[in-house]
Amino acid sequence: MIPFFTGYAVIVWWLAGKYRRSVLGFLWVGAGALFMALVIFGHYALGISTNGRIYVEVLQPILYAYGAVVTGMGFYIACLPRRVEHGPHCHACAYDLRSIRTAICPECGTSIPARDPRLGTRDISAEQARP
Ligand SMILES: [Zn+2]
Repeated sequence: MIPFFTGYAVIVWWLAGKYRRSVLGFLWVGAGALFMALVIFGHYALGISTNGRIYVEVLQPILYAYGAVVTGMGFYIACLPRRVEHGPHCHACAYDLRSIRTAICPECGTSIPARDPRLGTRDISAEQARP
């Protein structure tokens, strides 16, 4: 039971994060909420069909709270901003620096710091080693 709860939340949140800020991310969160509603209804229907023999009454509010947490957190994750998909670029002129190995932007001449986290991973050590 515990692996289901943690695993289900991780799957829904991972999909929400992978497709965040897109319709697909919100659809995954909606699908996660719909599945939780089916689980809650299935638990309730199982209790009725077995005359209460297979029905843990305290599980209902736990399922409601769990579904609300998974859906709410998934919605929050789906709203998070995406990273810049374009990779390293000059922050002065936005020139794409993916295949550029110099320490100076070829478009505008701005010097590019070797360890600027906005630029991603670039290997300019060979260019900087030159005199
Ligand atoms: Zn530039």
